[in-house]
Amino acid sequence: MLAFREVVKRMEGYVPGEQPQEKGFIKLNTNENPYSPPPEVLKALREKVTPERLALYPPPLSDQLRFKLSEVYGVPSNQIIVGNGSDELLNIIFRAFLGYRSRVAYLYPTYTLYRTLATIQEAECLEIPFHEENFQELPSRFLAEEADLKIVCNPNSPTGTFIATKEIEKLLQASRCPIVLDEAYVDFAEENALPLLSKYPQLIIVRTLSKSFSLAGLRIGFLFAHPEVVEGLLKLKDSYNVNILSQIAGVAALEGLSQVRENIRKIKKTREWFSQALEDLGFQVLPSQANFVFVRKRSRESLEKVYQELKKRKILVRFFPEWKEWLRITIGKDQEMRVLLENLKDILSREWNKGD
Ligand SMILES: *Cc1c(COP(=O)(O)O)cnc(C)c1O
Repeated sequence: MLAFREVVKRMEGYVPGEQPQEKGFIKLNTNENPYSPPPEVLKALREKVTPERLALYPPPLSDQLRFKLSEVYGVPSNQIIVGNGSDELLNIIFRAFLGYRSRVAYLYPTYTLYRTLATIQEAECLEIPFHEENFQELPSRFLAEEADLKIVCNPNSPTGTFIATKEIEKLLQASRCPIVLDEAYVDFAEENALPLLSKYPQLIIVRTLSKSFSLAGLRIGFLFAHPEVVEGLLKLKDSYNVNILSQIAGVAALEGLSQVRENIRKIKKTREWFSQALEDLGFQVLPSQANFVFVRKRSRESLEKVYQELKKRKILVRFFPEWKEWLRITIGKDQEMRVLLENLKDILSREWNKGD
């Protein structure tokens, strides 16, 4: 066998949620948006993609998209980097700040990609558990920990819970190291940390058009940071990291905010009634400010069988082998959630009857 680095030999590799190629699934496992992106996106792709543009390399810094982001979010364009999805930006950040034996701190449970990226860097992961039953506060150990990088996913995946901006500010006051906020789901939340950017030069905010903008297929992420941080991170970026179709589509998406806002409103509304319906079925539902919910049975038994049975019925939700009591369920359209509930009811009643 070829001589892979030791860490590569030993590591598991990040396992993304399934993307079934077969049709007919109700797909509630990877937090995609069930509604269409703004119509401006397809219109721009039809009208602005020319043979000449396809033949040339795209603008290396995604200029038009960056200027549009600057306008929409009120952040100077020299404080923005556009990425091939926010996963690419996380990758750049981890490579920039972590090496052999560096320390990265994050809360647990969270997005498991952080562990994978840190492992590749041979960095040490300080996984600090959330307070039992309190996902709204940062544990004091997390504030105090000495690390080379701290990262908070907010709203958090897989829990959906949210840490208030005031609480995030405490972290920024307590830590000198780079602080990354992964705000992939923040458009479904009540607030966001962007107002803190100008006050804290160590803050890096990572966003994406994959979730709230219904554009997971285009792979568009962006980050906001201090100009000097941007300058440093850009050294690690692939020259042409964002393809021309995505750059064109991204600009158009940001011109279609009214549709995006309407989609978000619908998802939040569905989230509310669906959470209540699950509670009524005997589930504990963590308070979510994202486009998914994280749930377990009050009896706390493994939900692996329930997950498998749902899959047989062509309903995909996310089951993490690391957290067997829990399922993460994306908020889809109302009708999809009704079908899921019917099937859950049926599966649970069969499970209960088995024991009699
Ligand atoms: C979906 C997701 C991302 C990645 O988003 P892309 O922009 O599609 O790469 C990053 N962080 C979290 C927590 C996510 O759930």
